[in-house]
Amino acid sequence: MIFDTKLMEILACPVCKGKLDYDKAQQELICKFDKLAYAIDRGIPVLLENEARRLTVDNETAEQES
Ligand SMILES: [Zn+2]
Repeated sequence: MIFDTKLMEILACPVCKGKLDYDKAQQELICKFDKLAYAIDRGIPVLLENEARRLTVDNETAEQES
């Protein structure tokens, strides 16, 4: 299922209530403020803070879980 980018207009980060960026390649919604990436599961964004992937400045450490 393809994520409907029109949803972007109504979606907000659950943490800061800010706008999210759509990462088409990763199929994630990004909050730059919190540095969190929310997965999109079969077209449905998973806007849960504890499900979000934490972004790092250096992409090479992105897969390391703390
Ligand atoms: Zn946020």
